[in-house]
Amino acid sequence: KVRVRFAPSPTGPLHIGGVRTALFNYLFAKKHGGDFLLRIEDTDQNRYVEGAEAYIIEALNWLNIPYDEGPGKEKDCGPYRQSERKVLYKQYADALIESGNAYYAFDTSEELDAHRKDHEAKGKTFIYNWHNRLKLKNSLVFSSEETQQKIANDEEYVIRFKSPEDETLHLNDIIRGEMQVETSILDDKVLFKSDGMPTYHLANIVDDHLMKITHVIRGEEWLPSLALHVLLYRAFGWRAPQFAHLPLILKPTGNGKLSKRDGDKMGFPVFPLEWKTSEGDLFSGYREDGYLPEAVVNMLAFLGWNPGTEQEIFSLEELIDAFELERVNKAGAKFDPDKTKWFQHQYLQKIDDAVLASEFERYLNRLSVERQGIALSQQPIETIRKIVTLLKERATFVSDLWEQGSFFFEAPATYDAKAADKAFKAETAVLLKKVISILNATEDFSAENLSEQVKGWITSENIGFGKVMMPLRLALVGEMKGPEVFDILSILGKEESVARIKKAID
Ligand code: GLU
Repeated sequence: KVRVRFAPSPTGPLHIGGVRTALFNYLFAKKHGGDFLLRIEDTDQNRYVEGAEAYIIEALNWLNIPYDEGPGKEKDCGPYRQSERKVLYKQYADALIESGNAYYAFDTSEELDAHRKDHEAKGKTFIYNWHNRLKLKNSLVFSSEETQQKIANDEEYVIRFKSPEDETLHLNDIIRGEMQVETSILDDKVLFKSDGMPTYHLANIVDDHLMKITHVIRGEEWLPSLALHVLLYRAFGWRAPQFAHLPLILKPTGNGKLSKRDGDKMGFPVFPLEWKTSEGDLFSGYREDGYLPEAVVNMLAFLGWNPGTEQEIFSLEELIDAFELERVNKAGAKFDPDKTKWFQHQYLQKIDDAVLASEFERYLNRLSVERQGIALSQQPIETIRKIVTLLKERATFVSDLWEQGSFFFEAPATYDAKAADKAFKAETAVLLKKVISILNATEDFSAENLSEQVKGWITSENIGFGKVMMPLRLALVGEMKGPEVFDILSILGKEESVARIKKAID
């Protein structure tokens, strides 16, 4: 059975790169009828950030990417937080020592720094491996008894992996195909730290094994760790899962990795939800900016993957159906904020008018509260629905409905000066008075009938449409914007329309 995991470290909010990794894992799992696990990799206590785990879970919930197992959904393989699995890892590190695949190293950080500087001075990079492993006084040179003695004396140590000296590894990646790595250039990575915690490498492999993970799908930044991970599986005598490393997400310009600061610089979110740092910096989020989760998911799916057809709009179900790791690109995926807005626009259009009307009503209620008492005229939901139907096509966010249609709720307090100059002429008052009398005499206030009545009069009197329609629009809206004037009249109703026109010619 296919089992995959999303294994974030709670070192901050999840950015869209992380969410994309979660999404691809989810899609792959569901496509193959498998399980999607969430594992919190919190072994690095120095980098732990309060609230990050809750943020990750909330973001996955909002995006509708539920996990089958994980914190709060304990199954046989739990617990799913590495800090709660702490007691487990030491025995695996010991087993590697036992089998000769790992060793104790007692170097202090000062000593390591000195080695590093030494190498740098000679223009070389210091690699802690077989070349110098035996030369470093604190590691393998110690006989087993000496080592035991040092441990008994409470000297600080780490456990390092003993990389093979001279071997060509053939590594396989579902997206990248076969890669060769020479073990001679590998670092002897630390597996177990002096603080009693495993490093990422050890905990990750042990947990993937114990949690029966079949496919590891993660970001390209982990590709350099692949050789070590494959070697660790071999050292334990375990079967390694299959690997797939997802392409980087690049800045819209294409040069360099998308960073969390890019969002604010370029005016679009790179986080699913808003995030406030402990220093008080606020990063905007897709949710708070009014995006629909479906639009964000659809956008993310196309960051590095494509279905090979022209189709761009995919529901989650359709994505599950179409998704294939083999169709994921190797090349970095450019993040495109305009395309993201385009997806959002498409998804807003799909929302049923009645549903969108109640969303808009909620927005209006929030706005009334924010403006503390400056009440908006309470339109019945039926009217709000008509407004939505009228404005939807040009809206990308619910807030656009307000931007474009606030005049339905608040009579204009002023008139756009430039437009007023053009529209309000000497004869305007007389013409608009006539409009008032037509409106007063009209029973059927549908846009069609109003159009017929008013246009009929304009034509029969040979007045010229602009002379009536421009000041009329200005009287109703306050600016030269908005939908058809007759639609506006119909929605505002007789009383309000007449009041606004009267006020304009006062
Ligand atoms: N904890 C790692 C991260 O934060 C997990 C990498 C992996 O999936 O192996 O991305």
